[in-house]
Amino acid sequence: MLSSSLFALLTATAVQAIPPNRPLPFDSTFLWSRDVANTRSCQQLASKFPNKLFFPNTPTYANESTDYYSSSALLSPWCVFTPESPQDISGALKILTSTRTKFAVRGGGHMPIEGAANTEEGVLIAMTKINQIEVTQFKGTQVALLGSGNRWGPVYEKLAAQGLTVTGGRYYPVGVGGQPLGGGISYFNSARGWSANTILQYEVVLASGEIVNVNANTNSDLFWALKGGSSNFGIVTKYYMRTFPLTEIYAGFIGNAEANNGQLIDAVASFIGPNGGANDPKAAIDINLFYDSKSGSVTGLSSIFYNGTFSEATALQNFTGMALSTNTASDRSFTSWVDETSSFGKSPNRALWAVISLKSSPEAVRLPGKLYLDAVKAHNATLMKIPNGSFTVTWQPITAEGLVEARRSGGDAIDLDPADGSLLVMLFGASYEGAENEKIVDKFLKDLVKDVEKQAKKLNMYYPFNFVNDAGEWQKTLSLYGKGKSFPKLKAIANKYDKEGVFQKLAAGAFKISDEGRKQ
Ligand SMILES: Cc1cc2nc3c(=O)[nH]c(=O)nc-3n(C[C@H](O)[C@H](O)[C@H](O)COP(=O)(O)OP(=O)(O)OC[C@H]3O[C@@H](n4cnc5c(N)ncnc54)[C@H](O)[C@@H]3O)c2cc1C
Repeated sequence: MLSSSLFALLTATAVQAIPPNRPLPFDSTFLWSRDVANTRSCQQLASKFPNKLFFPNTPTYANESTDYYSSSALLSPWCVFTPESPQDISGALKILTSTRTKFAVRGGGHMPIEGAANTEEGVLIAMTKINQIEVTQFKGTQVALLGSGNRWGPVYEKLAAQGLTVTGGRYYPVGVGGQPLGGGISYFNSARGWSANTILQYEVVLASGEIVNVNANTNSDLFWALKGGSSNFGIVTKYYMRTFPLTEIYAGFIGNAEANNGQLIDAVASFIGPNGGANDPKAAIDINLFYDSKSGSVTGLSSIFYNGTFSEATALQNFTGMALSTNTASDRSFTSWVDETSSFGKSPNRALWAVISLKSSPEAVRLPGKLYLDAVKAHNATLMKIPNGSFTVTWQPITAEGLVEARRSGGDAIDLDPADGSLLVMLFGASYEGAENEKIVDKFLKDLVKDVEKQAKKLNMYYPFNFVNDAGEWQKTLSLYGKGKSFPKLKAIANKYDKEGVFQKLAAGAFKISDEGRKQ
């Protein structure tokens, strides 16, 4: 190992060897050695922000560079920057762009895609310290001002002290930073649209370093684009989200044995049918079947939610009346329920996800369930060899009423038409050990999703929308929005606010406008 004084001497020499103002074109074939580029950008950041820049072998680097839901997202950034204000981010962006250094922005680290919020060849911006949570006013409306480095759990805890909440993610450790950039599913979609539809203002640091407010009147095109447009436009530092009162709720996990998987699927089919429960905007469900590679069995573990008490929650009776192996659902506070989900954080396992949407109907509930059960059965021998493997199918109903609400609140880049009816956002996920198993897992998920798509198209059940927050890296997302009409607008808006394409070329992210459809 190099002694620290020798390291300092070598890095200082390397910094001097590069003229500071030398232009570095994006698309040049100019080759950087990892150490030279690393030295230049990280050292410049370290001298401007001495207490906010961390190199490998420091505890902060170790904590921040490993704070990801999926271990497949773990990489080795050159250094970690922990900004405390938009001004810090602005200063850092000027250094990163002038040195043409790649960087990644990590919010809650819950997007399970390698390289979405981390980098092997650049600087990790960990948003942890951008963590304000305040109740305030925005143009006469009560809002929560949320720093984008928060997780949803602490946000709900703080707001609950005032009897309030917001339309954030459903599980405690999910990041405030990334979740609304994909639109976002909360427990309140049927009543209030996507999570992003209740955002009244964003504070964003643009590629130029300029700090701007973005709302319905100021930078209104960017306001629309940020609602679903993912990490293509800038670094969001604050969200101003409409608050609303929330008192007692009924919620919990329900589990079922393998023998009752059919009953669970029937319950979802009834729920989304006429007057089956989904028509009640206070009800929300997140229904899952899990294949376990140790036993080869498939069982259910789902969450059910009602904005009211059990006695009012007739919308959920198909689930509460089932034969259940586990049931933690009760009348309780929202924070007591969200606290129960705090274990969905950092995991030692790798995760891979893929998504598809179907036009909501009882038949469309059954199709992916059947194809998933057939697939895990057909591949049982292979899947059982994967250590700690769990393969999931998830039903997430999105109602037409929620889409009406999305448009009524001002709309978004996702722009789904309520006239096309309700939809089912179907997530197929895998959690497993061992990078060597990735090819098998990836192929299993891709084949399954492609099969569901093929069958759904034949049966006129296919709904052309891939939810960014659950999508696989290889899937088209932004170009499907608004039946293809949003994409040219998103492109133009990205060009307007980021003329040099910093967020396309230097910033990490899974769903870049410039990459759309290229990874299939
Ligand atoms: C256990 C679990 C539960 C989930 N539950 C839900 C749910 O209930 N509802 C839902 O909608 N989704 C849910 N998701 C999906 C999740 O919302 C998305 O993966 C989302 O991107 C996570 O945001 P994050 O900040 O945690 O992730 P990160 O991985 O940190 O970020 C995701 C992307 O957003 C970018 N980003 C993050 N912060 C910023 C910022 N401040 N400015 C600009 N870009 C930024 C990152 O660079 C990255 O490209 C869940 C995921 C998991 C693993």
